[in-house]
Amino acid sequence: MSLQLARAGYFVCLVERRAFPRETLCGEFLSHEVVGIIHDLGIDREFLSLGPSPITRFTLCPDRGPMVSEPLGFTAYGLKRGAFDQLLLNAAIKNGVHVLQPADAEEIVRSGEGFEIHCRTNDTPLTLHSRWCIGAYGKTSPLDRRLRRPFAGARTRFNGIKFHVPSTALTGISADEIWIFTGPGMYCGVNHVDGGLATICFLERRAGDNLPPRARLRELMAANRHFAYVMGRSAIAAVGDAPVYGTGNIFFGTRNLVEKGIFMIGDAGRVISPLAGDGIGMALQSAQLLGTLFGERRRAGPDARVLESEYCRRWERMFNSRLRAAAALQRIMLSTPLRRLGIAFLSISPSLLRAAIGMTRGRTDHH
Ligand SMILES: Cc1cc2nc3c(=O)[nH]c(=O)nc-3n(C[C@H](O)[C@H](O)[C@H](O)COP(=O)(O)OP(=O)(O)OC[C@H]3O[C@@H](n4cnc5c(N)ncnc54)[C@H](O)[C@@H]3O)c2cc1C
Repeated sequence: MSLQLARAGYFVCLVERRAFPRETLCGEFLSHEVVGIIHDLGIDREFLSLGPSPITRFTLCPDRGPMVSEPLGFTAYGLKRGAFDQLLLNAAIKNGVHVLQPADAEEIVRSGEGFEIHCRTNDTPLTLHSRWCIGAYGKTSPLDRRLRRPFAGARTRFNGIKFHVPSTALTGISADEIWIFTGPGMYCGVNHVDGGLATICFLERRAGDNLPPRARLRELMAANRHFAYVMGRSAIAAVGDAPVYGTGNIFFGTRNLVEKGIFMIGDAGRVISPLAGDGIGMALQSAQLLGTLFGERRRAGPDARVLESEYCRRWERMFNSRLRAAAALQRIMLSTPLRRLGIAFLSISPSLLRAAIGMTRGRTDHH
């Protein structure tokens, strides 16, 4: 987003709370939407030089019933977020974006036609003044409460957890596949990433218990024999030594796309079910959409009201059906009777799996 705005001639300041490179919760499956935008940004060569692991198949391993495996129909990649996000940041800096990091945006207030953004960097307060403000701060932030966003107090019971393990610790996982394992109240993705590592990442809906993340994986091993085989002794031992990356209380419902004049992109605008493997794609595509609107209107002088309504209209056209499909699939995966029914259908007609994947996807012009 910042890169595109800088290229369109805006002066852009990016405020990032954490020092990079940093890891963050994510399955690290980069779908073809992401690959398409990498291409549009002209950073394919730098991307490929990071050694992302190509992924072309999807295998679903239910806790009861046979595995189902189908080609994805496109090439995706597995790449650690630490490396991927650093790549994007480098490209932004190269294009003239001013980066304030590590710096926490603590409060955003309207000031005349623009905004005051109150930040803190190394314990020093700093106020930025800008005409426009874009919220790209992810799925949960204290900023949501400060901005009094309607969902800010919601309790959801959805948690996400990620581990990295050496890919050699896993049994039977080939590098070109993403595997999804289901269990009671959870699903877990496993795929190779760069640097000889694999990502194990799950979403759980807590049902009153308070199992810690590693115990939750052991519970999945007990419920799902495919997962028990893949993990064996060595992967569960590797998980024991690996850092835990997690986020709690994930809210998947609707959010305002423009909040008090701030344009929300990525998860700040809406979180898609991780089952779709499309969150990074949506973050980049929503950024590209807004960047295009700002670019188109630069010469005429952007009009806030026109921009807001155009952004919301195009965003909904682009994402609403994907969001609905991903939410329905997640509901099926997390409900034991619906999951059993779904798996029964899939074992009769495996091509339904590919149709389901297709429903959660955006453009396919870059393979
Ligand atoms: C369990 C799980 C698995 C997932 N797996 C995948 C997957 O395999 N593939 C996929 O495409 N998507 C996946 N997703 C979704 C994906 O991770 C997100 O959709 C994506 O990271 C959204 O990007 P973003 O830029 O909006 O937010 P983020 O990636 O969260 O980035 C927000 C940034 O803002 C910074 N920040 C936050 N608050 C402030 C502040 N106040 N001041 C300054 N900086 C701030 C943060 O430090 C962070 O760097 C998964 C999600 C979950 C929950």
